[in-house]
Amino acid sequence: MKSRILLIEDEPGLVLTLKDRLAQESYTVEAVSDGEAGLARATKELYDLIILDVMLPSKNGFDVCRDLRQRGIATPILMLTARGQVVDKVLGLKLGADDYLSKPFEMIELQARMEALLRRAPALAKSSQEIYQFGDIRVDFLSAEVTRNGRKLELAAREFQLLRYFIEHRGIALSRDKLLDEVWGYNATPSTRTVDVHVAWLRQKIEPNPSHPQFLLTVHRLGYKFIGS
Ligand code: CA
Repeated sequence: MKSRILLIEDEPGLVLTLKDRLAQESYTVEAVSDGEAGLARATKELYDLIILDVMLPSKNGFDVCRDLRQRGIATPILMLTARGQVVDKVLGLKLGADDYLSKPFEMIELQARMEALLRRAPALAKSSQEIYQFGDIRVDFLSAEVTRNGRKLELAAREFQLLRYFIEHRGIALSRDKLLDEVWGYNATPSTRTVDVHVAWLRQKIEPNPSHPQFLLTVHRLGYKFIGS
């Protein structure tokens, strides 16, 4: 499967070059050109890697990086810094970036760093995603606790597993069969109705208005899709 890359960069020439070259290397690249848009996109959709420029309109790369980590988004981040800005590099790493590259850089070096981050990404994402927030809801994966405006929600174990799976696959349409296999396992009573029932229960707990879901959406004739805040 192609790796999905989010490129947050405001230099049109560099965006064009990177999109073009990375597409040739069979990456799927989506680009946004300012910090706020980058933060919103990375919160809403799931990427394998984020390439993040430091100097950006509306919100700089450091703030985007810090906010993503505070929201529990563990996607590897490769920061692009200006040449020789050692302080930038240290700050970037402190705020949760995984690696950095100074501009201008050679494509081959960018790719080498991307590959290194993507190789360790699955383990990294699993172990460092401890908290995820959307709307008024806060999910703590370590304690398996879900709160809404600070008040604890009572979720059954299966509901929690289902919510976790949705969060880990946010932005992706998931079929009922896929959810049954992944959340219930192959020994489950093979009824896709089970999925619908649990999604309905989950909506009662996490949606501000369960009859008009804004997070856990129905995908017509297929299944469901979770959209983060
Ligand atoms: Ca820039």
